[in-house]
Amino acid sequence: MNRTATILTEHVSHSFTTGKIVQPVIKNINLTIFNGEMTLIIGPSGSGKSTLLAILSGLLRPESGEVQVNDTQLTALSRHELERFRLMNCGFVFQGFNLFAAMNALNNVVLPLVYGSKIPKKEAIRRASEALDTVGLSHRKTMHPSELSGGEKQRVAIARALVKDPPLLFADEPTSALDKHNGQTVIDLLHHIAHEKDSTVVAVSHDNRLIDHADRVITIEDGCITDDIRSFPERSC
Ligand code: ADP
Ligand code: MG
Repeated sequence: MNRTATILTEHVSHSFTTGKIVQPVIKNINLTIFNGEMTLIIGPSGSGKSTLLAILSGLLRPESGEVQVNDTQLTALSRHELERFRLMNCGFVFQGFNLFAAMNALNNVVLPLVYGSKIPKKEAIRRASEALDTVGLSHRKTMHPSELSGGEKQRVAIARALVKDPPLLFADEPTSALDKHNGQTVIDLLHHIAHEKDSTVVAVSHDNRLIDHADRVITIEDGCITDDIRSFPERSC
């Protein structure tokens, strides 16, 4: 497997302004993230994990610094170009699953394929079935979210994020609504996806129990990287 640097940040900083108060949240982050492995960003609540993930995935433009993903300089893109970049390249998994209650598991996964693209329905269903197979849920296709456990719902959300085969997969607190066992299943699945598909998987969590399940663990505290367990440590402060 060829490990390539897929996400690069240079001197990335961001602050939020509420009224007259400016709160620096991300402080001069220099980071290189690779494909083919699962990178876990860990840190206490409020340390800036979600903000950093939003910056890495093009959901949020940082106040200063550069973000490059493969050959694309994200910080140079217009809002419209960024949207398109995300649509073509990124899958997202969030804490709350965000599944449509009225649709069964299969149709929830089909949705990203039919929305805004011209994939024939039959092909979309084939690919959605394949994605549900990848997350081990072939036998739950016709069930609705209310009939699924929390762990199963999150696996459907992962299948939905995977169905377009994105090179980049981002997960924000994907296990925090789950018990220990289901949380580990989900994180093992993200790990498996990174290895099987050679994709870049970045998850953030405040749950230290997930550390053993990641290839690389980056710790963020108060907007700074304070630890990086790979052999090339990168620190911002
Ligand atoms: P984490 O995900 O590690 O819990 P966040 O990145 O969500 O941390 O937030 C870091 C800090 O930035 C927190 O103090 C939070 O209140 C603040 N923050 C996050 N988003 C916004 C926003 N849109 N507006 C103002 N402050 C924000
Ligand atoms: Mg968060």
